[in-house]
Amino acid sequence: MNVLFVTSEVYPLIKTGGLADVSASLPRALLQQNQDVRILVPAYQSLLAKLDKVREIAQTQHYGYTVRILQTTLPSTRVKVLLVDCPALFDRPGNPYLDSTGVEWHDNALRFALLCQVAVDVALNRLAFDWAVDVVHCNDWQSALVPALLSRFEQRPATVFTIHNLAYQGLYPKQTFINLGLPAELWTMHGVEYHDYFSFIKGGLNYADRLNTVSPQYAAEIQTEQFGFGLQDLLLHRSSELSGILNGIDTEVWNPGRDTYLHQKYNTRSLDKKVLNKLALQKQFALTEDSEVPLIGLISRLVEQKGLDLILDSMPELLKMPLQLIFLGSGEALYQAELKKLALAHPDSVAVHIGYDEALSHQMEAACDLYLMPSLFEPCGLNQLYSLRYGTIPLVTAVGGLADSVVSYTDESRANHTATGFVLNSASAASLVEAVALALEVYAQKETWRQLQLNAMQQDFSWQASSQEYLRLYQQAVLDTE
Ligand code: ADP
Repeated sequence: MNVLFVTSEVYPLIKTGGLADVSASLPRALLQQNQDVRILVPAYQSLLAKLDKVREIAQTQHYGYTVRILQTTLPSTRVKVLLVDCPALFDRPGNPYLDSTGVEWHDNALRFALLCQVAVDVALNRLAFDWAVDVVHCNDWQSALVPALLSRFEQRPATVFTIHNLAYQGLYPKQTFINLGLPAELWTMHGVEYHDYFSFIKGGLNYADRLNTVSPQYAAEIQTEQFGFGLQDLLLHRSSELSGILNGIDTEVWNPGRDTYLHQKYNTRSLDKKVLNKLALQKQFALTEDSEVPLIGLISRLVEQKGLDLILDSMPELLKMPLQLIFLGSGEALYQAELKKLALAHPDSVAVHIGYDEALSHQMEAACDLYLMPSLFEPCGLNQLYSLRYGTIPLVTAVGGLADSVVSYTDESRANHTATGFVLNSASAASLVEAVALALEVYAQKETWRQLQLNAMQQDFSWQASSQEYLRLYQQAVLDTE
């Protein structure tokens, strides 16, 4: 199949979160199954700076701009990448979505509408290179107008829309819709209108032939008021075309046995060496150097979704326990400030690094004993999967992909060697404290803990199975359009 994979970020070229990881590892897994997948992504300034081999293959015009289509491959892979090069919109420093002060770029609607228009050009084979697309796979609101725009053509490829996070919808005033010159027929409740606002994501949700999200549990949750962000009725309506496919992970990038970022590599047979990573990290962050003390980590965007309030509320209790904490993240100023304050007040037991740091994220996965992920909602979550593979036991809430990937420690799951982590009874600070207390009890039982680590490390979250599910989804979408 010829698959055009449209995304706003792709690892290692540009990344703010899990979408980038999936946008790299899923196409790669599909390529291994002999599918011709090409990724379409904006040519951001920092992305171009990472590439030395790009070649122009076509040009197009939209919104008064000349747009060049550049082709390259994803570093160290054979996956083709098409870059949407429109310097006026993408040649700027910093984040794909935010300016240097953390505010959304004022012209985001235009930037991503242009990405969608170019995707339509490629999808309809209108450009100078000849490639007949079978399926366009769109991801999150930034590419959600593609199914809406394509719906107007008799002869068009099938469309699949994946929800990586329903909280981000691309909501703009009606005037933006008008300014973008979008077809007037899309302006209905069953189109892209949302309570008189213009909703990018509704373009995907209403018009894609197939919808999916990144875990079965989240697929069910988003059809309810609690998790539906106002779109639950629409999703319920499309229930029969909506599925959940758990994300896989790149098992080469995230492999404790070969991870070059680590102070000390290890695997299930040499698990004893994992602790050397802890000692190195304690030293690096001037924490008390102690191989025995349990080290708990968190690597995250610092936003409400990730349960930061639960963590902060439980700190007074957690700090009474014999443990150390290390946080890596960036995001809301309030969370950054609170975490920094904690580290200042408890330099021996709390370390904080504000920022984005790829190497440190790997080192922390290897160094920590426990990984904290008490999200309020979590479409899939990748860090708990990385943690499992690194024998770093996740402590999670029972939502979305966390519920689908972590088996809670109970008497039964301990006895039959299926336990892989600790699941909170509810999303509350009290439950978090309770779960940490239980985890520390188990941690003190060396043999039981080791078995828990082995259970975790032996889980298979590679793309093997999930990429085949995507292939079936593509096939269904093609059948829908015939
Ligand atoms: P989300 O996409 O909601 O941010 P995920 O768990 O799906 O959450 O994916 C987050 C990805 O981003 C993971 O690969 C994680 O390691 C990475 N990440 C998040 N924050 C940082 C950071 N400050 N430094 C390095 N990596 C980070």
